[in-house]
Amino acid sequence: MNDILPDQTPVWQYLERTVSRVLRGYGYQEIRMPIVEQTELFKRSIGEVTDIVEKEMYTFDDRNGDSLTLRPEGTAGCVRAGEEHGLLYNQTRKLWYAGPMFRHERPQKGRYRQFHQIGVECFGMQGPDIDAELLIMTARLWEALGLGDHVRLEINSIGTSESRKAFRSALVDYLSDFREQLDEDSRRRLETNPLRILDSKVPETQAILKDAPNLADFLDDDSAAHFVGLQQRLDLAGVAYTINARLVRGLDYYGKTVFEWVTESLGAQGTVCAGGRYDGLVEQLGGKSTPAVGFAMGIERLVLMLETLEVVPPSVSNDADVYVMGMGEAGEADALRVSEMLRDALPEKVVVAHCGGGSFRSQMKRADRSGARYGLLIGEDEVASKTVSVKPLRSEGEQQVVNQTDLITTLSELLG
Ligand code: ATP
Ligand code: MG
Repeated sequence: MNDILPDQTPVWQYLERTVSRVLRGYGYQEIRMPIVEQTELFKRSIGEVTDIVEKEMYTFDDRNGDSLTLRPEGTAGCVRAGEEHGLLYNQTRKLWYAGPMFRHERPQKGRYRQFHQIGVECFGMQGPDIDAELLIMTARLWEALGLGDHVRLEINSIGTSESRKAFRSALVDYLSDFREQLDEDSRRRLETNPLRILDSKVPETQAILKDAPNLADFLDDDSAAHFVGLQQRLDLAGVAYTINARLVRGLDYYGKTVFEWVTESLGAQGTVCAGGRYDGLVEQLGGKSTPAVGFAMGIERLVLMLETLEVVPPSVSNDADVYVMGMGEAGEADALRVSEMLRDALPEKVVVAHCGGGSFRSQMKRADRSGARYGLLIGEDEVASKTVSVKPLRSEGEQQVVNQTDLITTLSELLG
C-alpha cells in the first residue's frame, strides 16, 4: 500500500476529472459503495477458486464475529447496492464508481495491495450495442488523455456456462497429457478452474497451450451472434481491435464478451482496463435475472502511462499563478486583503499568500518554489502609496509598481 504524495495528485486529479467528464457525456451516473462488504459476497461472485478469493483478500472478523472483506473489486458491491436499493429490476442503469481496491498480491511496478480503479457497470441491456458503447466510450477516453496511440483492444467471447463446460472438458483432456510440464498453479487449476490456465503468464505453459482446443469452436449460437454484433458495431465506429481467442478473465462471473485494453508502454503489467459481460451475476446474488456488462480500469497504471509518455498537459501541476508577500506589520495585513481581492476577481487563478513572516530573501525563495509566474510585494512604501510591486518570476521582464485599483486589470493581462 502506498501514499500518493502532493507531487503526484495533480495527475490523479486530471485523470479522474477527464474520466468523469467523458462518462458524464454518455449519461453514466456515479454510485459510491462502502469499501467493506460481507466476505460471502465476494466468494459467491468472484468465485471460490480464483486467485482473488483463494489468496488475495483482506478478510477479518468484526466485533460481532461477522466476516468482512476489504473489497478486491467493485462489481460485486455495485450489484449488491443495486439490488438492495431496487436500482436493477425492470429498468436499465449505466453506473460508474471510483475508489481503492485491496488485493494481497506481490507488490511490483504497476501492482499494489491498495490500488485504485474506476469501474463502469451497465444493467438491463442484453444486446451487443451496450458492449460496443462501453468500448467506444473508452476509446474516446484514451483520445482525450492522449493515450490513443498507445493502447490496443483485445476482445473475445467465452460463451455461456454450457458452452464453456464442453470446452472445459476438451481442454482438460488435452492438458492432462502435459500435466507434468505444467507450472504448479496450472496443474492445480486443471482440477479446480482449468479455463484460468489460458491466462497463465508462464511461458512453458503458454507454449503447451498453442495447440490446445479453441474456445471459439465451442461457442453456442447466441454467443456467437452476439460476438459478431459487437464486432460489426466496433467496425462501424472505427474502433480497432484484435480477437484474442485465449483471452479469459480471472473472475468467475463473466460470460459472452470479455475484453482488455493493453499497452506495451508499461512492461509486464500491461492491462490498463478490463471487463466483460456478466449476465448471470445479479441472479446468482439473489436478484432477478438481469443482463449486465462492465469494466474496470487501473488508475495507477494509467497515471504511470501518462507520466511515462509525457502526455500530461503543462497546466496540470501544483503551481501557483501569483505569490503575495507582505513586509512589515502593515504590509503583511495588506497582503492578505489584496489576496482576497484577487480571489474575488480571478477565481480561476491560484493565489498563494505568504504566511509565516521572514526576510525578503526567504519570502522570495518561497515565491520561487511555489511555481508562481508573478510575485506581488507589499512593503511600507506600497502600503503608503496604495500600490503593489509586481515582479515576474519566470520571465525576464521588469518589476513594475501598480496602483491597487489597477491591479486586477494588470494581472488579468499578464496571466492571460
Ligand atoms: P492482472 O491480470 O494485471 O492481474 P486482473 O485481471 O487481476 O489484472 P482486474 O481484476 O480485471 O485485473 O482489474 C482491472 C484492472 O485493474 C487491471 O486491468 C489493472 O489495470 C488494475 N489492477 C488489477 N490489480 C491491480 C493491482 N494489484 N495493482 C494495480 N492495478 C491493478
Ligand atoms: Mg490479477
